[in-house]
Amino acid sequence: MRDMGYRIRLPSELTEQEEFISRYSNYFNTFEVKVKDNITSASCVQNIMTLAKKYLVTIPSFHIIKDALYNQQSLEKSKIFFQALEKAESDLPIVLVTHYIPKKEYNSELPKQIGNSNFILALENIEVDEDVLDYLDGLKYAATTLGAKICLDIGHLLYSVSKCEENETYILGKIANDVWWKENIVEFHLHDFDSQGCHLNIGRGNINLRLIASFINIFPNARIIFETTIDDLSVQGVAEVKMFEEELTQYDNPRDF
Ligand SMILES: [Zn+2]
Repeated sequence: MRDMGYRIRLPSELTEQEEFISRYSNYFNTFEVKVKDNITSASCVQNIMTLAKKYLVTIPSFHIIKDALYNQQSLEKSKIFFQALEKAESDLPIVLVTHYIPKKEYNSELPKQIGNSNFILALENIEVDEDVLDYLDGLKYAATTLGAKICLDIGHLLYSVSKCEENETYILGKIANDVWWKENIVEFHLHDFDSQGCHLNIGRGNINLRLIASFINIFPNARIIFETTIDDLSVQGVAEVKMFEEELTQYDNPRDF
């Protein structure tokens, strides 16, 4: 089965973290931890990795600070987190996600450190309100320059496509038919969207599940992280992931692009 789970915020208390992760792992095989100030201490990072290895079937990923590569303060904090993570676990190919915004001065120091480790840096697309293809080209260029991979946020992408009144099949086809994207997408973020915004539960907005399932099936090795707003992961979360798994099985047609 493909790795699928949720983006989670962990409590700072180590025992509460164990309660959360042990319960969570009954339902899902991976998660993405949002790195907040409350979990950057070395003991906390160590605890998360110990618990992840104890309970999860596969490796987790981390969403580091979104402006980590172009904001000095965020860079410094992220370097501390990176060092703590490397100390806790240096062997696994853990994905570290951060955002790409055009026209920023990207600092290559952290990407270099990550490049010299077993971890994988992944740049994520954000919401844009003009020229989606131009933004994607910039993302591809930045990732190539920094030696990073891609976390493709489907919700952000399709919300942007609809806001810019562009054609979603055409844009997805540009990605699906480009070898570079095929080789470099390591993770998907998934959430529904409507004209008001993103991060809706799947099925609550305008997402075309058939199209998305066929698209994601072109990338069989990329993990899927749900970024929806579900309160009860053990019931609604399980149902959401199961529903999407069924869509993936039902719609497997790369010719759609
Ligand atoms: Zn995302």
